[in-house]
Amino acid sequence: MRLLEGKTALVFGVANKHSLAWAIAQCLWEAGADVGLSYAGDKLERRVRPLADELGARFVEPCDVTDDGQIEVVFDRAAQVFGHLDILVHAIAYAERDDLNGLYLDTSRAGFHTAMDISVYSLVALSRAARPLMSRGGAILTLTYYGAEKVIPHYNVMGAAKAALEASVRYLAADLGPDGIRVNAISAGPVKTLSAGAFMGFRDMLHHVGECAPLRRSISATEVGKSALYLLSDLGSGVTGETLHVDAGYHILGLTRPTG
Ligand code: NAP
Repeated sequence: MRLLEGKTALVFGVANKHSLAWAIAQCLWEAGADVGLSYAGDKLERRVRPLADELGARFVEPCDVTDDGQIEVVFDRAAQVFGHLDILVHAIAYAERDDLNGLYLDTSRAGFHTAMDISVYSLVALSRAARPLMSRGGAILTLTYYGAEKVIPHYNVMGAAKAALEASVRYLAADLGPDGIRVNAISAGPVKTLSAGAFMGFRDMLHHVGECAPLRRSISATEVGKSALYLLSDLGSGVTGETLHVDAGYHILGLTRPTG
């Protein structure tokens, strides 16, 4: 019997085959889950449909998470297709490019709101919408980054957003725990994806982590998927409100210096 046989999962945030959401979706599917995918908007459909077909997904729906109406439609549709939901994956973040260059000090009010809305509030909104479908318990996972805890050059407003996201994981875990719904985060090390690749200095960051992390390498998207499987399956049944670092150990270092 596979770990997620008979379980249903809804994964938000697949943009293409490099997305962390895709690696997670594949791991859940290989473990036996019935996986549905949601993507940001119609322009992504061309890339997401073929991926959904690889999983035989019955559910492939667009959803812009800034729009409450679209969230309602997507969960109504999920109720029709799946009946109940066991797993929700939130792998969504966005900040205006201008707010990722220069000083955090110069973050615009509008840019701050956008980053918080798409990268943080969406977890709250999706969790609330998923709750009625998780009447027999469930597991929710989001993705964060070390820039929530320490200053990372250029991460700026996204660092503030990820800190708020990690706090939201704890508050949601407390709210939903009595319903048997667990809420956790994975703090992933850098992986080259569409949004990460557009981040200034990303290549240097990847190189630096590969040289300095205790495991002397960066991580793969599949490693995020495997840890997601742990947190989202019965293997993680006693874990909630947690942020698990999947970063080759980089976060334990006090002094990062390449060692030859
Ligand atoms: P990705 O493939 O670009 O995924 C980001 C997703 O967020 C995209 O599908 C994007 O769609 C979606 N999104 C943005 N605005 C949205 C909206 N309004 N409504 C719905 N979806 C929206 O990049 P990724 O690296 O896998 O990112 C997934 C998560 O992992 C993010 O939370 C990211 O911060 C986190 N993370 C990534 C890394 C890394 O190094 N890659 C490390 C730690 C944490 P569009 O393409 O249409 O904008």
